[in-house]
Amino acid sequence: MKENSAMAMSTGQPTFDRFVTSVKQFDISGKTLLLPDMAPFAVRLLAACFRAIGVPAVVMETYKGLSLGKEFTSGKECFPCQVTLGDILYHLQKEKSRLGPAFSPDKYVYFLPEADGPCRFGMYNKMQRLILDRFDGFKEVPIVYISTRNAYATESIMPPERSPIFRRLSFVAMIIADVLDRVVWRVRPYELRRGMTDAFMQEALNAMIETIEATGAGLDFNRLYRLLENIVLTARTFIDPYQPRRPRIGIIGEIYLRHHPDSNQDLIRQIEQFGGEVVDASCGEWINFVAFERARKLRRRWMTQWRQGNFDALRGLTRRLIGHEIEKLYQKWRQDQVYRTALQHLDIQPDHSIDAVERRLERDRLFSFHIGTEAALSIGGALEYAHHGFDGVVNVFPFTCMPSTICSAILKPLLHDMKIPYIDTAYDGAIQPNREAALRTFMYQAKQHLEAGRARKRSRIKMK
Ligand code: SF4
Repeated sequence: MKENSAMAMSTGQPTFDRFVTSVKQFDISGKTLLLPDMAPFAVRLLAACFRAIGVPAVVMETYKGLSLGKEFTSGKECFPCQVTLGDILYHLQKEKSRLGPAFSPDKYVYFLPEADGPCRFGMYNKMQRLILDRFDGFKEVPIVYISTRNAYATESIMPPERSPIFRRLSFVAMIIADVLDRVVWRVRPYELRRGMTDAFMQEALNAMIETIEATGAGLDFNRLYRLLENIVLTARTFIDPYQPRRPRIGIIGEIYLRHHPDSNQDLIRQIEQFGGEVVDASCGEWINFVAFERARKLRRRWMTQWRQGNFDALRGLTRRLIGHEIEKLYQKWRQDQVYRTALQHLDIQPDHSIDAVERRLERDRLFSFHIGTEAALSIGGALEYAHHGFDGVVNVFPFTCMPSTICSAILKPLLHDMKIPYIDTAYDGAIQPNREAALRTFMYQAKQHLEAGRARKRSRIKMK
């Protein structure tokens, strides 16, 4: 594959107008949308949402093209950039050899969202454009993106009548995916027979995909909730009631790495294998954070215009602000519905609101959302875990990730003072020989934390 790819490369010099002409927002109807894998449930349900509104979306095979991703990057990029680049190159090369002369690059669109702010995520799609352009036949594959700049608005990538449907459906699907994840993490460590949870949840995922594809466009959420309820009712029967509760470990960190099992070397299963029960920060947290950020920036602009007495600008900003606040309320309402559906039958970990995270940060004056990046989210998320009595926190991130390094600097001493075990796990695709020993030690500390908490509870009961 490596030799073939090198031979297939064109020698033309990159032109920067390609960042505008071929990394863009346009109507993707009729094209095959290529999605990079990330959180396994969430990405597959997102693809189903696209298919529900008539866009043939495909989740690309992942991690098979890592050597390609590394070959065509310098090593200074973030690891998720190398992984996703490898995925798209591997997928297109496979399609090219499968279809031969029938391969038609303009039938595909590569979906790569971006974020504004100081981290490098905003540049992935531009950089990957330059690399795709070096391959014969891949230049014609456009990159489409949605951006945090306008809270992932989708009007510019699909017909206007489908956008509101897709937006609502995909939000609910993302929350359902989060809940499915939480069901797995609550049940699998205590399952009666090894492997039964994963086997069942794969079937459950397929059923959810089929239902979204068949009925999602009608926004009949009750149907999705009923299916979710049945999944939870079955999954809870897998728990062996005689197994004692394990130490609970909360994961925070960079969104791609913490959700992509290949990139984080299956960290969640590893922690389970060493005796823990895990909760990973959710995809919904990120979507809510994006809406929260957008509303916060609008409020700031509103205040500036108010101080300047610019009432014309204030009218437009007020309308947009009200729209965003309504969207935030809608998201909260739907999120509560989905979690309630599961929580009435199984005690999964509920998700926190971004407002709660902000209050926690502000109360202790530890960090601020004004600084930007997801660092505030991770620091606040770790404090939420601490508040809910978790026994350890893992910070997962790509080697050299800027926001996660900030988190580490703040959380390490803070959680040390709170006597909550904490570990940084940075990944770049290499196998670290001491990683297992470090995780086992961390889990030993987490078990001690759990035992100490139980002992405190027992002595409190005795004193009463
Ligand atoms: S969050 Fe970290 S890994 Fe992601 S683009 Fe920013 S610096 Fe890179």
